[in-house]
Amino acid sequence: MKNRRLVVGNWKMNPTTEEEAKEIARKVRRTVSGLGSIETVLCPPYIFVSAVRPSVKVPHFHVGAQSVSFLEGGSHTGEVGAQMLKDSGVEYVIVGHSEMRAIGDTDEIVSKKIAAVLEADLSPIVCFGEKIRDESGSHFNFLKEQMKNTLVNIPKSKSSKIIIAYEPIWAIGAAEAMKPEEIYEMSIFIKKIFSDIFSINLAHKIDVLYGGAVTYKNAFDIVKTGQIDGLLVGRESVNVTGFVELLKVVDSVPV
Ligand code: PEP
Repeated sequence: MKNRRLVVGNWKMNPTTEEEAKEIARKVRRTVSGLGSIETVLCPPYIFVSAVRPSVKVPHFHVGAQSVSFLEGGSHTGEVGAQMLKDSGVEYVIVGHSEMRAIGDTDEIVSKKIAAVLEADLSPIVCFGEKIRDESGSHFNFLKEQMKNTLVNIPKSKSSKIIIAYEPIWAIGAAEAMKPEEIYEMSIFIKKIFSDIFSINLAHKIDVLYGGAVTYKNAFDIVKTGQIDGLLVGRESVNVTGFVELLKVVDSVPV
């Protein structure tokens, strides 16, 4: 774990207007300035990145993207490339979110997207997570395969910029998050797999975030008992009151 935790807000397809996007970012900025131990990243839809950017021009506040194309510039209608994101001020890119996997992002595509993000010298926040969890423990094998398939072709020399977001799909959008004790177990498991793929030194350095039904109410326990390096927050990230409370709560957990 580093000396600061990372809290990432994934706004998904929200809000509807640019004015609302600016307003959320401005409100979050007021809280961010007073925090001592967090890096905060807002990931609005592509179209609002420029609107959010002026607000993040303070220390420890950043703008990210929710996806990226793995293609290079040219005839690719509808696509947005990593260099374009970089030029817009983006520093982090969510890759392999389960909602993108559900509409076609395979492990191979996710792997190419990670490579494109690293090539642009940005940090990929790579999402992994099982659909179901049962007594047999099949989720361990699922996660191991998903991580290996996705990361095996990534050069070791660039792997230190990777951030892992463990997001069990059954917890995304759910009423309750995973139990903090189980989050702790999974983060150790993920670091072990990362170590098998790259090296133990790199595994000690990477950040493993948790995502899935995190709110300001459960964030303290998840971070403290789950001993996690940060959070990937969906719904609560566009509920400004809840999100700023969440940031303060996470900031209060000793690093
Ligand atoms: C997500 O979609 O990445 C997520 C964590 O969503 P939520 O916090 O709403 O469960």
